[in-house]
Formats: sequence, structure tokens, C-alpha cells
Amino acid sequence: MIKYIAYCRKSRDEADRQILSIEAQIAELKEFARKEKLEISEFITEAKTAKMPGREQFAEVLRRIEKEKANGIIAWHPDRLARNSMDGGKIVYLLDIGKLIDLKFPTFWFDNTPQGKFMLSIAFGQSKYYVDNLSENVRRGQRQKLRNGVLPLKAPFGYVNNPRTRGIDIDPKDSKIVQEMFSMFIQGNYSFTTIAQYLAKTYGLTRKNGKPWFIDTIKHHLSNRFYLGIITFNDEYYEGTHETFISKELFAEAQKQIKRISRPQKHGHVFAFSGLARCASCGAAITAETHTKHYPHTGRTATYNYYRCTKKIKPCDERPVTESEMEMQLHDILQSVSLPQSWADQWGKWVDRDEITEKQSLEATIQKLKQELVEIDRKANILLDSYLDQIIDSETFKQKKNQFFEKKIKLQGTIGKLETGGSSWIEPMREFIKTASECEKIARAKNNCEDVAIFAKRIGSNFFLSDRRLAADFRQGFAAVSRARTARALPEASAASSISVGTGRLELPTSRSQSVRSSQLNYVPI
Ligand SMILES: [Zn+2]
Repeated sequence: MIKYIAYCRKSRDEADRQILSIEAQIAELKEFARKEKLEISEFITEAKTAKMPGREQFAEVLRRIEKEKANGIIAWHPDRLARNSMDGGKIVYLLDIGKLIDLKFPTFWFDNTPQGKFMLSIAFGQSKYYVDNLSENVRRGQRQKLRNGVLPLKAPFGYVNNPRTRGIDIDPKDSKIVQEMFSMFIQGNYSFTTIAQYLAKTYGLTRKNGKPWFIDTIKHHLSNRFYLGIITFNDEYYEGTHETFISKELFAEAQKQIKRISRPQKHGHVFAFSGLARCASCGAAITAETHTKHYPHTGRTATYNYYRCTKKIKPCDERPVTESEMEMQLHDILQSVSLPQSWADQWGKWVDRDEITEKQSLEATIQKLKQELVEIDRKANILLDSYLDQIIDSETFKQKKNQFFEKKIKLQGTIGKLETGGSSWIEPMREFIKTASECEKIARAKNNCEDVAIFAKRIGSNFFLSDRRLAADFRQGFAAVSRARTARALPEASAASSISVGTGRLELPTSRSQSVRSSQLNYVPI
């Protein structure tokens, strides 16, 4: 008796919209099993796409088959099992080695013969082709819609998708509710919550569980620029061609009100360097405060920002430091890791060059692996011929064939990884060069505490304040720039001797600079 595992899958993908829900699949499979008198030992369901390998529940199905807990699979269609060649290959492999005896689909007839397996491979292959094609078609369709000024998604509340024109029309009923929502809101005495409650009570607009809409939903509607005629898609704006029913004035009024009520409850001044450092003596946070000083002689008052230890952990003697002192020290720190423009340009060129050579060698590698795949197929065919011509016995055939199969799966996996992975170091390297080359500018500018704080966090971590001095650990890369700058007097040193961007890896100067002991930076006043 064959024991079947029933596997049901539905992903939230666009491409899978036509597919039955998991519940419906379960119901269909139960009915199918009853009619065909099949024994289902368990149901395993998954809400993931099968375009890429790596579904946990599918892997579980394979594991159980491998452990001989079951020897058959039931699914709605082969495309529920596999839409990529790796997973498809695994199923066929299990059939080949006899751990899997049968597959049953209500929509596809399979029998465990060479022809049957061939048909199954085609079904898997077609699924992949279908997926490849569909996502490209979906993207193409979306682009075309955006060009025409039509949102390629479900219409926002107040509008309705018109399946005939494929455009978006005003919904006569819901649009009135949206108008009411806006008018209510700009009066100023309704919160998001009261509006949500009102909509639930008056119009029965609720979430699936019957509770009023989330505050964020209300906020989202009230700030959705679609009502102004603007389409936002993938963070890009497009001019919509849909009709509007909310006036620009009403919308602007609502935005003001949103700003008013969602402003964080912060009092007074926002300090640029608060949260940046901790006290080196006691480990407590550094807080900021404002002091106003009055000069009796001139009658002038001036305010100063100070940073001091909160002393929340234990008593602490660290003295406060002024904001301008902090700023000066941070300027020096930024200066110490700044990359001269000539170096940045040269490094940028090297990265560009390496990117090209890396891409070429990657393509060559993939090409080579693909040739190996073809070669394996060729050998497998010869093997099959020898078997059919009764040159080799079935045991040898099986053994050899499995070897080919495993090799093939491994190769396909490697190719897939190479094709999707690409280079992992190019972008971070570019980002690093950009930041390091901007440090100089930031360090020289005046009254730019906010920028200084942002850059400080980019180049370093673990800032500590000790005896009014800031110290930090440099992040990777910046430590090297600092070392290079200390080891040789910059910017006289040429870019070529600075650093070598070799074959795909940034090599940082180390042994040449004997004077450097650690990446820990200690600020020394000049
Ligand atoms: Zn302290």
C-alpha cells in the first residue's frame, strides 16, 4: 500500500493569483483521495513561492520520503511541487532511486515509467517557463500601465478597478466616505481613532475581525497622494490619469493637521550629539543640556549646549564638555579618516575596473559550468543507450545514472547561486570611498553639527567621553585610512602606493606601517 503525503502550496505572489487557496487545495485533495481510494498519511502545507529553492515544508516532504515514512505525494498539480529545476530534479531523483513510488495529481496524470518521468519533467519545466514568462509579463504590464497614468494595483479606498477599461474609476459610494473623512479630520477635533470608530459604526468599515481600522490605515488614507492624482509606485511618482474628488486645498489642510497631531512630544532643543557617546569612567549615557549665561558687564546673555554624564549608574566625576568642543574634536576625527580626492578618484577607477573583470570572469565560470551540464547530459544519454542495447546491466546503469544526477543537481545549484549572487564587495566599497572622501568637506564646514553626527556614526562606533576627550573605534576601512594617514604624510603620498584593490579584494596596508598598533583612536588636541 502506498502512503501518500499531501502537499499544498500557495504563495502570496502575483503570479499565483489564479491558484486555489490552501484550504481549497486540501478539500480537493481529500475528495480526490476518497474517489481514488488513496491513503493520505498527512497534509503538509506551505505559503511560499516555488520559484526559488529553499522551501522548508517542501524539504520536510522530501526528508520524510527519504526516511521512508511515506512513498507517494499528492498535490494539485506538478507546479505545486516545483517551479525550479533543482526541486524538480530532486523529485525525479527520488523516483529514480525508488524511494518515491507514485505521484498523484487531480489535474495531471503521472505513471512511474520512463515516459511518465519525462512528461513530469516537462511539466516542471513548463512551470518554470511559465513563471519566468509571467513575472516578465507582469512587470511589462505594470510599466505600461504606469506610462498610461494608471496605478497597476488594487484601487485605493474610494476608487474601484474597472476590469473593462483596465483603468481606475471613482467609486460613487466610497468616495463620499473619503470626502467625509477628510472634512471631519480637518475640523481638528477628531483623532485617527475616533474616525476609525466612526467609520466602523456608521458604515461598517472594519478589519476582518470586526474591529475598527488601524490608526495607520486612517493616516495612510488621509495622506495618500493618489487622491491628488499622483501615483506612487516603488517609491517613484507618476502622474495619474484618474479623476479626483478631493480638492488640493482640502488635502493640504489634512496634511497640516496630520503634522500637528503626529508631532513627537519633544520639548525644547534637539541636540546634535545626544546619544552618540557614553561616559568612559562609569559607562552611563551622555546627556545634553542648555545653559544660559548672563554677562553683567555687557548685559549680554548667551546660551551654551553642554554634554555630560548622566551619572545614572554610580557617582561619577567626569566633567561636562561644550558642544563646540565636541564639534571640534569630531572635526579632527573626521579629518583623520578623510580620503584625499585624488585617492578617491583612483580607488573608484580601480573598483570600476575590478567590477568589469569580475563580471567577465563570473560569466566565463557560469559558461564553463553550463558546458559541464551539457556534457553530463551527453554522457547520460550514452549510458542510457548502452543500457538499452544491453551493453551494461541495470545495476551499473542505476548506479552510474545516480552519479550523473547528483553531479547535475550540484552544478545547477552552483550556477543558480552564481547567477543571482553577483559581487558582494563592490557596492560597500563604493559606499566607503564616497563617505571617506566626503569626510574632509564635513570636517571643514562650519555650523554643521547634524552632518558631523551622521558622519561620526558612519565612520566609527563605541564613542566614549573621558576627561572631556572623545575616543571611538573606527569601522572597517576607516581604520585603514587612518593608519595610512598616520604612517605616511598625506596628501603627498601617491594614490598608487596607498592601497591596492587587487583581484576582487581590498587589501589594506598593514605591515608597512609599523607605527600603528591598534584601530582604537585617541584624540590628541593640537
Ligand atoms: Zn560617568
